[in-house]
Amino acid sequence: MVAVERIWQGDRNARIRLDKQPWGPAKVFKKGMTHVSYLLIGLLTGGAFTLYFRDAPTLVGEFVTGTAPAVAYLFLGIFTATTYLLGGIAREQVCIYMCPWPRIQGAMFDRDSMLVSYREFRGEPRGPHKKGDGWEGRGDCIDCKACLAVCPMGIDIRDGLQLECIQCALCIDACNEIMDRVGRPRGLIAYDTFRSLESEEKGGPLRLNIIRPRTMLYSGLIALASVVVLIAAAAKTVVDINVIAERNPLYVRLSDGSVRNAFTVKILNKLYDARTFVLSVEGLAGADLSVVGIEGRPEISVAPDGLREIRAYVTLAPGPLAGIPSGATSFDFVARDLADGRETRRKTQFRRP
Ligand code: SF4
Ligand code: SF4
Repeated sequence: MVAVERIWQGDRNARIRLDKQPWGPAKVFKKGMTHVSYLLIGLLTGGAFTLYFRDAPTLVGEFVTGTAPAVAYLFLGIFTATTYLLGGIAREQVCIYMCPWPRIQGAMFDRDSMLVSYREFRGEPRGPHKKGDGWEGRGDCIDCKACLAVCPMGIDIRDGLQLECIQCALCIDACNEIMDRVGRPRGLIAYDTFRSLESEEKGGPLRLNIIRPRTMLYSGLIALASVVVLIAAAAKTVVDINVIAERNPLYVRLSDGSVRNAFTVKILNKLYDARTFVLSVEGLAGADLSVVGIEGRPEISVAPDGLREIRAYVTLAPGPLAGIPSGATSFDFVARDLADGRETRRKTQFRRP
């Protein structure tokens, strides 16, 4: 968003001048195009997030032809508006007041943490410096405020570490440029630690203490989280089956003495191509499976990235029924993918009197 603002309205000084100007065609154009660009970015990022929940190429086509579901337009609008408001209007206020990270980050620091720091012992006393003047009795900071001008959070790093600082290091680059121009050593603002700053102030060396209990603990936690994510990714299924047994009634006794249970079976195909599954039951000897609306072998086609819901009956004739105890008996519904033979199963229960 900052880059967009710079494209349409120029650098910080140009923007300040533009803000002070009375409204006219040029100002309306520059401000208007900035906000149109923000909205476009919001639409593209919001749109991308909406596409995550459905088959993306299909949904894009539906958006273009105006045939997408109303809820898709609703969420596209919500994501566009929130991106525009948070990224284009609220900006750093989001980082300061809404994001919990600065608080977490503050709790994680210690005296050996590398942070963007102002070398006060070197910079003070600050003040303007004329070409040809000496540097005796004064600090290297010429109070040009370049570090303040580039700071996206609008803070002055010379006041010390602040909660708002996002450690972007833009002030380091800005100050180094100034130091080059006035012929002073770089690094008036630099990455440094509290302990090192104290040492340097007394003329001691730069002190870096990277391996310490805190860094080892954080590294361990990051490694642990990475392993959990990798395991979760490896265990991710591409087909899922969900079975809901009918509760009312739990079973039906047929005129020939058989007992029938009804189930709602949902097969979720997370793949990008249509799949056909053969549904069967395992662990219930002699069970007969029938699917409403499908004659013979229960072959169920599921669209790409789609969900198919079917109603299935599992029936036990009097003979097999005698082989299971009263009450509930566990068995599996199995969906076998005809394309690759992969089986997905879901445990449920058959109930009899
Ligand atoms: S950019 Fe450097 S010299 Fe300029 S005000 Fe900031 S600290 Fe001082
Ligand atoms: S590191 Fe970034 S946010 Fe922090 S003071 Fe410097 S410019 Fe500002």
